[in-house]
Amino acid sequence: MNNKILTFTLLFVAISTLTIRAADKPKITEVIIDGVAGFQDTPMQPDGKWHVHDPARPQSPVVTPGNSFSQQAPPPSDATVLFDGKDLSAWTDKKTGGPAQWSVADGVVISAKGDIQSVQKFGDIQLHLEFKEPSPPKESGQGRGNSGIYFMGLYEIQILDCYINKTYADGSTGGLYGQHPALANACRPPGEWSTYDCIFTAPRFGANGEVISPAYLTATLNGVVVQNHQAFRGATNWRSLGEYKAHAAELPLTLQYHNNSVSFRNIWVRTVPQVNEP
Ligand code: MG
Repeated sequence: MNNKILTFTLLFVAISTLTIRAADKPKITEVIIDGVAGFQDTPMQPDGKWHVHDPARPQSPVVTPGNSFSQQAPPPSDATVLFDGKDLSAWTDKKTGGPAQWSVADGVVISAKGDIQSVQKFGDIQLHLEFKEPSPPKESGQGRGNSGIYFMGLYEIQILDCYINKTYADGSTGGLYGQHPALANACRPPGEWSTYDCIFTAPRFGANGEVISPAYLTATLNGVVVQNHQAFRGATNWRSLGEYKAHAAELPLTLQYHNNSVSFRNIWVRTVPQVNEP
C-alpha cells in the first residue's frame, strides 16, 4: 500500500468512526418553560404526570426560613464527626480512594476536583451538615452552586443555590434528585450558611436482591421540612428514573463536586438504631 492509499484509508476509517459515534449518541433537547430549563424527552415519572426534570412541573413554594436554625449545632456525645473545621481525615477522594482534594481553610471546606466519600460506612443515619453557596452567584439553573449529599453514595438530596434561581423542580435544593421536588424552597441567599438536618433509612433487600423496603428520607432545610419520610424510587441519576440494585447494608456517604465551589462546615452523623415494627 503506498502512502497516498494508506492516508486515504486511515482518513476514511476515522470519518466513519466519527459518523457512527455521532449517530450512536442520543439527541438531548433542552426546553425552557416559564424561564425554567429542563427536559421533556426523558422518561415519565411513575405517577404519569411529569417527565424526569420536567420544566413544567410546579416549583416548590418559597418559605423564608427563620434565623440561624441549627447553625453550629454541637454534635451529640455519640455522633461521628465527619468535619469539624480542621481536616478531611474522615474523607477520601471517591474516584481514586486517595486523599480528598477539597480545600480546607478557616474552618471551612470547599468542594473541588471530584466527589468525596466518608471513610466510614453507614446505613440508617441522622445527619447534620451546613453549606454556603458562592456569592456573588454565577451561572443559572443547575449551574449555580451545585453539589449534593448522596446517602450511601447512591441517593442524592440536592444542594443548589435556588435563591431566586429557577430550575426543574425535581432538581431543586431539598429535592430527591430527578424524583421528588422539595416540599418548600427554604434557601437562604448565597453567602449565608444553610443547615440540613436529615434522617435517612437505608433500603432493605431480600435474599434474591428484591426490594423489601425502599430508602426513605426525612429532611429539614434551615428548619423547614423539605422531605417527609419520602421514599426514593432507586438510585438518583440525571435524566433517568430511579432504579434499585441490591447493595451492602452500609456504604460511605458521598458529597458531590459539580464544577462549583460550595462551602461546607460542621458535618456529623449519628447511627440510628433499628426498631421492631410496627
Ligand atoms: Mg447535585
